[in-house]
Amino acid sequence: MLKPSQGRRVIIEFVPSQDLCCSGEAYLGSNEMLVRIPRKVNKADLALTIAHETAHAVLNLNHSEMRGPQYNNVGNWEKLYAWALEFPLERQQSPFKQNLSPEQKLGEAVLKLEEWENKLILAQNKVARYKKRVEHYARKLNEKDEKW
Ligand SMILES: [Zn+2]
Repeated sequence: MLKPSQGRRVIIEFVPSQDLCCSGEAYLGSNEMLVRIPRKVNKADLALTIAHETAHAVLNLNHSEMRGPQYNNVGNWEKLYAWALEFPLERQQSPFKQNLSPEQKLGEAVLKLEEWENKLILAQNKVARYKKRVEHYARKLNEKDEKW
């Protein structure tokens, strides 16, 4: 646990994650850390992840020095970090998407449709190119076999 005398200013960069759990990175003895947050975040998991990365950064601890539920999701970690569930921490909607009118939403959907139709055409062109390439090399191989 951090004592007030050990207090330091740290920079935490939060980034979105596709995973189901929080994860993070911090260099030993640094004052910067990265915390990845999934779309549906478990606040206890987030608190544990911040504690884990803070132990690396601020307390200069490595994994062998941080066994147990205080720094890892083992044992009664969920009970230990249950206090975080009460924190008023909620994902905010992007300010850019918040107040879109129905016309703007339609415009956005049209752009996305065009984007994916273009990707579909590109994919179809690639498939056609590789089909020709496969036929070409298969023919070459057959011609070589016939010579023997
Ligand atoms: Zn770690």
